[in-house]
This record gives sequence, structure tokens and C-alpha cells, in this order.
Amino acid sequence: MKFLFLFTFFLSSVIGFSQQNSPNIILMIGDGMGLTQISSGMYANGNQTALEECSFIGLSKTAAANRLVTDSAASGTAMACGVKTYNGALGLDTKNTPHKSILEFCKEKGYTTALLATSSILHATPASFYAKVTSRREYETIAFQLSQHQVDYFVGGGKKFFIDRKDKRNLINEMTDYTFVETLEEYETSSGPKIGFLTYDEEPPSLMEGRVPSLNELTVLTLEKLKATEKPFFMMVEGSQIDWGGHDNNLDYVVSEFKEFDTTIRKVLEFAKEEGNTLVIITADHETGGLALTNGDIDKGKVKGSFNTKGHSATMVPVFSFGKHAALFSGIYENTEIFHKMHAALTKE
Ligand code: MG
Ligand code: ZN
Repeated sequence: MKFLFLFTFFLSSVIGFSQQNSPNIILMIGDGMGLTQISSGMYANGNQTALEECSFIGLSKTAAANRLVTDSAASGTAMACGVKTYNGALGLDTKNTPHKSILEFCKEKGYTTALLATSSILHATPASFYAKVTSRREYETIAFQLSQHQVDYFVGGGKKFFIDRKDKRNLINEMTDYTFVETLEEYETSSGPKIGFLTYDEEPPSLMEGRVPSLNELTVLTLEKLKATEKPFFMMVEGSQIDWGGHDNNLDYVVSEFKEFDTTIRKVLEFAKEEGNTLVIITADHETGGLALTNGDIDKGKVKGSFNTKGHSATMVPVFSFGKHAALFSGIYENTEIFHKMHAALTKE
């Protein structure tokens, strides 16, 4: 009996010890955020970006398994799960074998987890971290998989895929261990250990069209909740609509979405500096629009550019890192390495 007690004590202190050393991991993905999108936002914002605070810079090769030009599903899967796959697939490799995501590895280690996006929460980038489907368009299936998944906090649009479904199920009613909130105020005051905040029925509008709440406010509140759990955490924050500005070939759209993402990066880096033991990685899944910056005026905060495509391009994208084990992310590597480097940070002393 005494032995059992000592053993339990030993075990819990080992678990406590390993959690103390496990870093928080914050992965920030600017969808479609190539170097030119960053430069545009930087020049339009008084020639500065929060990214200048980062200690290490790398470059990520974004090609999908079956195409030089990736989509957000294949590149999301590469970063989330560490495997190259075909465009459209989420959480599966080219043989449709499911792979565990970094969020799922973190969860196994006792981490609290969070996903935030300015698209729907079922869109390809956030879904890469929990869904296993052959097509990113299977939104109702993806919503069902999220309902079964146990991501602790999630924020994004796409409410209708939970409640207005072909199978007539109401996933929000079924997810009884979650608190669902409707407003930023409710999100702030809710102390539930699992919270879903479905911000819009479908895809959220752009910032220019008045999207609220801001990604930076949502991120700061989520960080407070994560910190309060007193456990290490994994959080993925996506600036989803930088990509949509690129698809629209609309530089004002790109710049406004980048600026909000940049403010969010600043908040995250402030948190990481204050907290310590936190790894922050900021990158993109691919570039969108083949954007070239052709003119502008720093003093007036104006930029002009031209786009080469309505789709994505295959250029490498930058990876910025800060904090615990940030040095792992310098160099030039495949996007799958982002998963492997985060995984290494998770298990490293
Ligand atoms: Mg996305
Ligand atoms: Zn896109």
C-alpha cells in the first residue's frame, strides 16, 4: 500500500515535471501570405511589422504530392500532420491513410488545444488539425469530425454545418460537454473548459465588410483561457482571408487582412515574452495571386501591386519563429518539416 502511494506520487511528479518543461506551441498561419503580401502590409503600415521581433527565419517549400501548386488542404495537412498529400485531402496521405496531427500529439501529452480562424472553422486550414477526409468540401462530415474531436476551444464561422444538416442532427445540442457562446462578451465571461464560438453561419465576411470580433481580441481572450488552465497548450491561429484578397486580386483586401493578422502576431509575441517557455511559429501555407509590388509611398502608407493569377503560386513562403526551440525553424525545408520541428520541440528537453 505504501509502495503504491509512493509510486503514484512518483508518477504524478514525473508527469508534472514533464508538463512543466513542455513548451506552449502557437502556430500562426497567414493563408496565402507570401513575402510580397507581408511587404505590402508592412509598407502600408508605416514600414513596420511585428514579424521583425522574430529571432529566426526559414523558407518552406509548399508543393503538394500531386501538384507543384498546392491548395490549403494539402499544405495544411503537410504542416499539421507531416505528410505530403494530394490537393483537397485533409489529414490523409496519398494512400488515404490517416495521420495524427500535431494538435493530436499535443492532446495526448495533456495539452489544452485551441483553433482560431477568420474563415469557417471547417475550412481547409483549421480542419487539417482535426479532420480526416478525402475532400475538403465535405463540410458536414468535417463538422461531425470536429464534434467528436475534443479540441478545447474553437472559434470561427460555419455554424450552419452543425445545425442545418442533411442527416438532421444538431451537433451543437449533441456536444454536451461544450459551452457554445454567441458574442465576444460571452466568450470572455464563459469559464467552461470547452468552448465553441461559431462566429457566423457561413463564411465570415472580410474586415472591409465589417467582420467582428477582431482576430487579435479573440486571440488575447483565448490566451487568457489557456493560461488559466495551468497546462501547456497548442494553439493554431489563422489569418484566413489574406488568401481571399489574393484570389480577388484586391490588394486593399490583402493589406487589411494582413494588418489584423500582424496585430495578432504582436499580441502573441507579447504573451510569449511575458510567459516564457512558449514557441511561436508564423508562416503561410502558400502564396496567393502571384503578387508583385510595383509602386507605392511609405509616407502615405500606399502600395500598388499587380497579380499574376487568380489562384495560388508555388513560391517558397517564409517561416518566422520566436521563443523556446525557435532555432529549429531556420533554414530551407519542405513544409512537412514544420510538423516534425514542432514535434521535436514537444519532446525536447
Ligand atoms: Mg485557410
Ligand atoms: Zn486559396
